Amino acid sequence: MGGAPTANALRSTAMATPERAADFAGSPDAFERLWTPHRMVYIDGDRPSAEAGEGCPFCAAPARTDAEGLIVARGRLCYVVLNLYPYNPGHALICPYRHVARYLDLTAPELEEFTELTRATIQALESASSPMGFNVGMNQGAVAGAGVQAHLHQHVVPRWGGDSNFLPVIAQTKALPALLEDVRSRLQAAWPG
Ligand SMILES: [Zn+2]
Repeated sequence: MGGAPTANALRSTAMATPERAADFAGSPDAFERLWTPHRMVYIDGDRPSAEAGEGCPFCAAPARTDAEGLIVARGRLCYVVLNLYPYNPGHALICPYRHVARYLDLTAPELEEFTELTRATIQALESASSPMGFNVGMNQGAVAGAGVQAHLHQHVVPRWGGDSNFLPVIAQTKALPALLEDVRSRLQAAWPG
């Protein structure tokens, strides 16, 4: 149990049917320096739009069901979604519903809920998967590495030593979209309050 994926798991992942990136929320470029081909096999290469609406993954996700949109929690002004391009299982994004690009664009009530949902995400991850640490933050603008720079999102990435013994081993037996749904439902079940 645990540890790196086996060769069989990698083969089965490679044979997974590609899914349209536009059907999920995600931020493709934030961790581009870390080349992780297993994250890319099911992406067909669609680039997200900078316009608000269906072409923007963070505008489109809330209109879907939680399972279809990979949504973990919905607030009044902001929501939490799993990243389609996870650096680690449980890599979540906190987004305002409004299509705004900058942290400074958030209204005071949006900022309050953005912060509260960030806290709740960390709490849920601690409860669901006992990470040893977190990376939390925003990439503002393409120059800073934002994959979808037009729609603000805060990354919460759980970290483990070696980053391999995570939300156990389902990665070895299921293709990544199924893994994402397992992680999503676990996080939703662990959501505080
Ligand atoms: Zn948007």
